[in-house]
Amino acid sequence: MSDVIIVGAGQAGFQTAASLRLEGFDGSITLIGEEPHLPYQRPPLSKGVLSGKQSLDSLPFRPEKFYQDHSIELLLSQRAVGIDRNARRVQLASRTSVEYDHLVLATGARVRKLPVSGVHYLRDRDDAVELKARLESAGSVAIVGGGFIGLEVASSARAMGKPVTLVEARDRLMARCVAPVVSSFFHDVHAAEGVTVILNSTEIPRADLIVAGVGVIANVELAHAAGLSVRNGIVVDAFLRTTDSNIFAIGDCAEAANGLRLESVQNAADQARSVAMQIVHGPSPYRAVPWFWTDQFDIKLQMAGISSPRHRAVLRGTTESRKFSVFYFDGAERLAAVDSVNRPGDHMVARKMLAARTALTPDQAGDESVDLKGLL
Ligand code: FAD
Repeated sequence: MSDVIIVGAGQAGFQTAASLRLEGFDGSITLIGEEPHLPYQRPPLSKGVLSGKQSLDSLPFRPEKFYQDHSIELLLSQRAVGIDRNARRVQLASRTSVEYDHLVLATGARVRKLPVSGVHYLRDRDDAVELKARLESAGSVAIVGGGFIGLEVASSARAMGKPVTLVEARDRLMARCVAPVVSSFFHDVHAAEGVTVILNSTEIPRADLIVAGVGVIANVELAHAAGLSVRNGIVVDAFLRTTDSNIFAIGDCAEAANGLRLESVQNAADQARSVAMQIVHGPSPYRAVPWFWTDQFDIKLQMAGISSPRHRAVLRGTTESRKFSVFYFDGAERLAAVDSVNRPGDHMVARKMLAARTALTPDQAGDESVDLKGLL
């Protein structure tokens, strides 16, 4: 028997607790979350919740009974404020403390804020409730940031019939993550749906409601104060262990051994499963293929792998059909990533190909007569 404490009751924290029980862990599990709500999913906040298509009741991963049935002690509205690594103890703001054998840091990230007042942000359930109310009464909306969150909020605001202007500092949308062909496709989609998109600008347009989606900052302060190594996130090795082997860090707050800090449901959930497996069955390196999705208007973009501007981008299908994929190859013509627009089949094949390191040439990727499934 051993005791596991999980700090952060978001996607990664919840999944760690659930997976530990699924793997047969019979020690105690304490899940500490500073938010007052049952652990819930964030993706609908900028999509269905904002546009009114999805209710708040649908957000929790599991009802309260799940935690009781699985002997998971859920401490909500409780903030962890310190870690005593020698005593293996986590201090809470309520002045109590809890002891652990394994500690999992799943503290997530918080929004980066602009140095101006009157701007709204979207990270948690309470933000979404407030933003939705403000959207309903706003005559016009300005959005700062042409990344996933900004574009999803734009899409939801248009679904509510609001005039929307979106400004992006760079010369294209989602520039950090997708090839120019995908950026320009989404630019056209948003323009056709009535969003005024202004590139190369940081000037906030006049509007009744201003929303910014300009990135996040990892919540690393607890780890830093405990003397763990921290850079852009809490530094972890190939096994998701911090510089203290009794402490794992996962999800948005963790910087992986390859130097990347990913912000996605897949990353949080798969890292959580890996940590649960390791606590129960022993060390095993984390090796999942990253993937991500975003919904904007009637378009679903699914991304597998990690693309880079230095990759060669090969188009499969046509942007005019609103169903296409972009295959990214590195210098050695090795498949590195695939973005799929309204082509879920390509996305599923891509995930399998990336996991199996299936040989695929750029010519095959671009030729729609080649059956990709047949290459697996
Ligand atoms: P979080 O879910 O942020 O959870 C961390 C929790 O820890 C928070 O509840 C925080 O309050 C708590 N916490 C922090 N410090 C402490 C402390 N000291 N004590 C106690 N509790 C603490 N990803 C996708 O793949 N697809 C999408 O379409 C998508 N859409 C998104 C839309 C929105 C609006 C947002 C905000 C995110 C979206 N994401 C999406 C990203 C995805 O939700 C995150 O990557 C994921 O939630 C990360 O999980 P996490 O557990 O690491 O962090």
